[in-house]
Amino acid sequence: MPFLKNSFLDLLHLLFPATCLGCALPLVAGEIYICSTCLHGLPYTDHHLHPENLVARQFWGRIPCNAAMAMLFFKKAGTVQQLIHHLKYSNQPELGIRMGILLGERLLSSPFYQGIDFLIPVPLHNKRLKKRGYNQSYHIAQGISLVLKTPISTKHLLRKAATDSQTNKGRLLRFENMSAAFDLQHPEELADQHLLLIDDVLTTGATLEACAIALLKARPEKISIAALAFVT
Ligand SMILES: [Zn+2]
Repeated sequence: MPFLKNSFLDLLHLLFPATCLGCALPLVAGEIYICSTCLHGLPYTDHHLHPENLVARQFWGRIPCNAAMAMLFFKKAGTVQQLIHHLKYSNQPELGIRMGILLGERLLSSPFYQGIDFLIPVPLHNKRLKKRGYNQSYHIAQGISLVLKTPISTKHLLRKAATDSQTNKGRLLRFENMSAAFDLQHPEELADQHLLLIDDVLTTGATLEACAIALLKARPEKISIAALAFVT
């Protein structure tokens, strides 16, 4: 359905101001949120073509995971950091859709992400959702959904409560803190399904691990993981 995707992007172009969120230069026709120079210069990982990539290895021995990938390397002071900052802190949820489309195109072309039944963005707890106004991972999922034609689930995996700042905690404490943070609803609807967990930036993987542990209680067929970027 390239027509639907292109008309959606054209609509976004009409609705939103036309400077690149990567380099702040003016956009030209056909460029949405990110200019062609930034888009082509992004540090793509090609993880979707390599099942034993660095992100997948992070989850080895932690959770049973069909496939895991991040689209971009996250480097401090680079374009990716700039884009993620806009996505999270400057009220640019549509950038999430734009980036989600890029991510979805990679998943579509990969043999390891076929037959996905549900897209499950990592949920935010209500307090943070109210403060930011949107869940950036949900908008990434919207972009992926436009490409894969797969429904997004926001009702199955719920975030229970605010977790404290985790910066000063060890990995075990962080994990214990995280693993109690998610609740599962209507698990019968996820049984024998292929689930794709979606996050914006992957660092230790503790959040995704806790999400996967909650989802495993539903006995899905497979869990796969996709993030926009990961910190090396
Ligand atoms: Zn640019």
